Amino acid sequence: MALKIWLDGKLVDEKDAKISVFDHGLLYGDGVFEGIRVYNSRVFELDAHIRRLYGSAKAIRLEVPMSRSELISAVEKTVEANGVIDGYIRLLVTRGVGTLGLNPFICEDSRLIIIADNIQLYPEELYEKGMKVISATTVRNHPLAIPPQVKSLNYLNNILAKIEALDNDVPEAIMYNHEGYVAEATGDNVFIVRDGVIYTPPAEAGSLEGMTQGIVIELAREENLEVVEKNLTRFDLYVCDEFFLTGTAAEVIGIVEIDGRVIGDGKPGPVTKLLRKKFFKYAHGKKL
Ligand code: PMP
Repeated sequence: MALKIWLDGKLVDEKDAKISVFDHGLLYGDGVFEGIRVYNSRVFELDAHIRRLYGSAKAIRLEVPMSRSELISAVEKTVEANGVIDGYIRLLVTRGVGTLGLNPFICEDSRLIIIADNIQLYPEELYEKGMKVISATTVRNHPLAIPPQVKSLNYLNNILAKIEALDNDVPEAIMYNHEGYVAEATGDNVFIVRDGVIYTPPAEAGSLEGMTQGIVIELAREENLEVVEKNLTRFDLYVCDEFFLTGTAAEVIGIVEIDGRVIGDGKPGPVTKLLRKKFFKYAHGKKL
């Protein structure tokens, strides 16, 4: 079924949702975006996603062409118009039409696009068996280059690491920062468990401040599990008892092998399974 797309203030048919070849979003990856879930017709953590979008936009001197409350209402209208019950929203703001030069300040109005569609999840089997990953050789963007906290339309850094993963027949790659510490996966945050303590790298290590990461930290603390945000090395990943990733699309997924080293007993561990279950209940609005 053809979708209704929100484009510049109104819903249009998918076939009419077009942007110019001179848009700097296309010419230079100049823009920002968010990926948001819909569970049971409810947009998940919308306020927090909107807050992150405005933060990303501010960091690159891009004006979101709507107020926060207008944007919330536009997202909800798009979800409703497409009858999405369990799905995924892509919200993006591009710099708009400019010249072939770099100057972003002569671009016409920034453009706002909202797509609400069904989600492509990893197959259930991957959650049960756990996923294999590799360490990428592509270094995560330096914070003084493109800050990884900005969810920009320029995802080449992540795509290069994803290519390495796919070349090695695994779905994800772990990225390290310029100092050699774990930053994140190409589209997910990293967690490990060792001796009963949960560790995750801080945003300063070069990761996006993941919405799912924040919720999983809270859910773990509710279970009286200790969570420590600290820099992790590749060694820490190799010797941990459990390893999992978090993200809007993946939710919580266990990692059972990295660079040929088996994690724990080669199956998703008990903490991973508990947090996956708790996150599922939380996302579906059920009482824990
Ligand atoms: N890191 C990167 C690079 C991402 O693109 C994402 C989102 N897909 C995440 C981490 C996870 O963030 P969130 O839980 O907010 O989806």
